[in-house]
Amino acid sequence: MGIPVIEGARIGAYILKQHLIGRKRYPLVLMLEPLFRCNLACAGCGKIDYPDKILNQRLPYEDCMSAIDECGAPVVVIAGGEPLLHKDIGRIVRGALDRKKYVTLCTNALLLEKKMGEFEPHRAFNFSVHLDGDREMHDKSVCQAGVYDRAVAAIKAAREKGFKVTVNCTLFNDADPERVAGFLDRLKEMGVDSATISPGYAYERAPDQDHFLNRTKTKELFRAIFRRGNNGRKWAFFQSSLYLDFLAGNQTYHCTPWGNPLRTVFGWQRPCYLLNEGYASTFKELMEETDWDAYGVGNYEKCADCMVHSGFEPSAVAHAVKNPFAALKVALFGVNTEGPLAPDIPLDKQRPAKFGYADQVERQLNDLVETEKAPKQTAAAE
Ligand code: SF4
Repeated sequence: MGIPVIEGARIGAYILKQHLIGRKRYPLVLMLEPLFRCNLACAGCGKIDYPDKILNQRLPYEDCMSAIDECGAPVVVIAGGEPLLHKDIGRIVRGALDRKKYVTLCTNALLLEKKMGEFEPHRAFNFSVHLDGDREMHDKSVCQAGVYDRAVAAIKAAREKGFKVTVNCTLFNDADPERVAGFLDRLKEMGVDSATISPGYAYERAPDQDHFLNRTKTKELFRAIFRRGNNGRKWAFFQSSLYLDFLAGNQTYHCTPWGNPLRTVFGWQRPCYLLNEGYASTFKELMEETDWDAYGVGNYEKCADCMVHSGFEPSAVAHAVKNPFAALKVALFGVNTEGPLAPDIPLDKQRPAKFGYADQVERQLNDLVETEKAPKQTAAAE
């Protein structure tokens, strides 16, 4: 599944306009996390390690719409936490569609069948179901047996009701290329339109710190997967050809953290979807007052192994706009899986990691008390 023609043209026109007006930094995808609370606790997740008072916060519908308008990105991805736990999630999706956005709702699908009636199929809307591989791989990744089967049943139900469904798959250092290839083969049988595939980011608060991929291992793994795909197995990815080429080590990209800005219950997260180094209160403040040069591979130790789509897909898109033939070549002939890797960014000048989680949580809890937001945003019982 690709983005439909009308939305594709709208997104293309937006990107072209940004280049023509010479805007150096612009958002492509708004990441909206209207809550941190989840109904799973995955070993590789660094998003849900907050006190209950924070996990009980919800970004109200009005704030979600303001974030969409303020940011202006043509694509909105709603993530979390588990967005289906938000009581206004159907309205939030409708509001984004009314604003002519292309909308993806990321979900672990445990509540999908129950909540499906809150949504309507739309050409510019898709559910992106979290599946980190086949039954054994996924249930291990989410630390709970039976989740894979429930997600697959929900995918089937959603497809039968006419929804577009993609799958988002995060890979770790224990991924077996042959099994991943088999999993990608099976997505079509499940009725899935396409997949988003990415290495996991080494969240410092994730419970399992032993299975994150480094850059070299990431490139080796993706070459091994794509090598199998180049033998006529037609996998559909919901990602640009040049980002896949980057994962296989054929492109040297600096990240574009402002390309996928993140709005959470605390404001606009600095500097990106993955790293939490504080918040800006407005999108303008995020763009204008973040010290962007302090982040990215080669600049900051916490970025050293990052190759995640939220940081590098916008870099690949910018490359495709400048050199459409490079993108076309990969799209037509597949990702090159042989030969030397493109040079990587040296790490010898990166600044050391700073760790301020405890201070930040304390600040956020204090802010909640001071601004008396808690009663307004606290969800009713789920
Ligand atoms: S490399 Fe870029 S996208 Fe990745 S964590 Fe660092 S700033 Fe974020």
